Amino acid sequence: MNKRKWEPGNPDFVIQHLLGGNQRYCEGKVRRNGNDQDRRTATAYEQHPFAAVLSCSDSRIMLSEIFDCRLGDLFVCRVAGNIADTAVIGSLEYAAEHLGSSVIVVMGHERCGAVGAACKSAGAPGHILSLVEQIRPAVKASSNQPGDLVENAVRENVRQVVNRLRESEPILAHMVKEGKLKVVGAYYYLESGRVELLDYEAPAAQKQDAA
Ligand SMILES: [Zn+2]
Repeated sequence: MNKRKWEPGNPDFVIQHLLGGNQRYCEGKVRRNGNDQDRRTATAYEQHPFAAVLSCSDSRIMLSEIFDCRLGDLFVCRVAGNIADTAVIGSLEYAAEHLGSSVIVVMGHERCGAVGAACKSAGAPGHILSLVEQIRPAVKASSNQPGDLVENAVRENVRQVVNRLRESEPILAHMVKEGKLKVVGAYYYLESGRVELLDYEAPAAQKQDAA
């Protein structure tokens, strides 16, 4: 089988690469051969992360591991509830425009405590309240849906953050419009380790193994 050419600037290629890594993770076949001294040396003075990930801070998610990525592959922003405040958006702009990441993955997860807190009518102590308030619009939008409120709100929160990033002027929206960047939503299953993309359909040409 011919191995496909490495195309870090092609968002759909990068997405398939990440999914391939996640499949290896789920099957216990991770390569993890890129976190050694050679890789540290290779990345010590420059970085070219092909993807940026905005994920919840939850301790049960290890981003490089679940995508079977090497040192320097992923630019990572983590904050409880994977919300996109201005500091997060600025960080992602830096990854996309300056470091060349062609994909931003916004990843929520099963049984998210931050989203769970936002689903409760009571307030939250200290600065946790500011997190909860940013998730509440997703909870409100999910309130009439059938099924589990927290799980629905996790997915809705991801969708809202994805839309916010896609429409973020002046940098991210412009890159999306030019086809240089894709922002995709994802959902992580704690027990299986599987990452499911939300509302993403791969172009036919990208569906072959890009790993
Ligand atoms: Zn969480």
